[in-house]
Amino acid sequence: MALVLPPRVSEKNFQKALDAFAGVVGKQWVLATDEDRGTYMDIYAAGDADHHIPGAAVGPQSAEEIQAIVRIANEYKIPLWPISRGKNLGYGAAAPRLSGTVVLDLGRMKRILDVNERFGYCLIEPGVGFFDLFNHLQENKIPLWMSVPANAWGSVVGNALERGYGYTPYGDNTRNICGMEVVLPSGELIRTGTGAMANSACWQLFKHGYGPAWDQMFVQSNFGIVTKMGMWLMPEPEATLGLNIQLPEPDDVGWAVDELAPLRLNGVLQQSPSIGNSLRIAASQSQRSQWYEGDGAMPDDVLRQVLAKFNLGWWNINLRLYGYDDVNEAHARIIKAAFAKHTKQEFQVVQWHRGDPIADSGAGVPSTNALQMVNWRGGRGGHIGFSPVLPPTSEHVLKQFHATKKRYEEIGVDYYGSFTLMERSVTNVNLMVYDRDNEAMTSRVRALFKALIADAAREGYSEYRTHLSYMDDVALTFDYNNHALLRLNELVKDALDPNGILAPGKQGIWPRALRTERA
Ligand code: ADP
Repeated sequence: MALVLPPRVSEKNFQKALDAFAGVVGKQWVLATDEDRGTYMDIYAAGDADHHIPGAAVGPQSAEEIQAIVRIANEYKIPLWPISRGKNLGYGAAAPRLSGTVVLDLGRMKRILDVNERFGYCLIEPGVGFFDLFNHLQENKIPLWMSVPANAWGSVVGNALERGYGYTPYGDNTRNICGMEVVLPSGELIRTGTGAMANSACWQLFKHGYGPAWDQMFVQSNFGIVTKMGMWLMPEPEATLGLNIQLPEPDDVGWAVDELAPLRLNGVLQQSPSIGNSLRIAASQSQRSQWYEGDGAMPDDVLRQVLAKFNLGWWNINLRLYGYDDVNEAHARIIKAAFAKHTKQEFQVVQWHRGDPIADSGAGVPSTNALQMVNWRGGRGGHIGFSPVLPPTSEHVLKQFHATKKRYEEIGVDYYGSFTLMERSVTNVNLMVYDRDNEAMTSRVRALFKALIADAAREGYSEYRTHLSYMDDVALTFDYNNHALLRLNELVKDALDPNGILAPGKQGIWPRALRTERA
């Protein structure tokens, strides 16, 4: 991909900055050929990858190198886009929001600095992948579990910073953050929480520190570059008990949410189950052309054939209980009684006890199988996800489900949705799977995405995370008091980053000098 210069930077100064970066990290870690830029593009983009073209990539190996790079970037006004492993698929992958931005690839910083078995935590660098941490725990027989997202190709730090989640009781990954080391846009190095004491004995034990707590300020923001992160890990339980069930009708998701929400809130259910439609499973095991060749959304009667073939329900639910055997059994009885009010179907029960193979445990075992579904439409596949957060009631969930499915049908995309039940909310992840070389298809997907943002905003729902191309649209739906929160974010941005070098535009937050770039 040919070079697109960032705003405010001449070609000569861009080159000078790259040379200075090479002086810090070594020539081989400054990646600036057309091919290099291609590798850091959004590989799943729905036809708009050219809105987010990286200028180059730099791969530092330490916080000190990052500090030096940040100082150079300030001197030449080079925007930097930090990534941990850059596998943020569906949200922009490794690409920056603003073309010409230099990707700061932290993948080389992949040390597991500490794992504390007694107190259940680790301290890691950004490049540590879910597979790396899982293997480390397994190989060293450390009885601690992490929680992984459906596709576990990325990094533990990147996922927690984007508020990704997995399916164990520790699934809300951003909540497990305890203490960070961060390079500020000025180049200053800080530690949050009690890590701000040079000899802290509790950095990974106590989240709040003293005075304002800053960890979440560096989450989904462009206020700092995280170079170390403390994460709480779950002690391996004595047993787990899985309850799997398939619900045959589209509207069954309503009563399922009403029954499960109070059990999630009162702690009978400690993990956040995902209630997913069957396309999610069918798309990872087959291709659309095996079932249907038509252009529009796959008709309901064809979907029924798919369900019959794979023995699936319209919705599929996997609940998992973690802890002591007796307690799990008691909780399972409560859940079964709640479902028995609505269906004669029985749960399929999966039991695991300490010492059984980990694969059947419900621990966060990393896998990339979920990626298979991008082949659904054929060609070079991609996907993008629209994920609004709603109150956990059947009224909200059914209304949202029917409205979204109708939008998909209007635009001719197969409905692919799930509802993940948190303690006091439901995250409705809607995936759009496409052939990214089919311009007619991707332009429909882009139109669908915009329509869904507007529909959700009318209902008072926002997305919990979004793709680069929609960061401004979603930020602008936070409109209370003339966008007071966005104005606060940008006030902080300008104070911390007066030259506007760190991830301009991330989450819709623009530095003063680049606000005209807002979409
Ligand atoms: P993953 O490795 O899980 O795929 P990414 O590296 O793609 O995650 O990170 C997702 C997003 O999170 C990035 O686009 C960036 O905005 C932010 N991010 C990732 N790592 C860092 C970091 N170390 N410091 C600051 N922001 C980061």
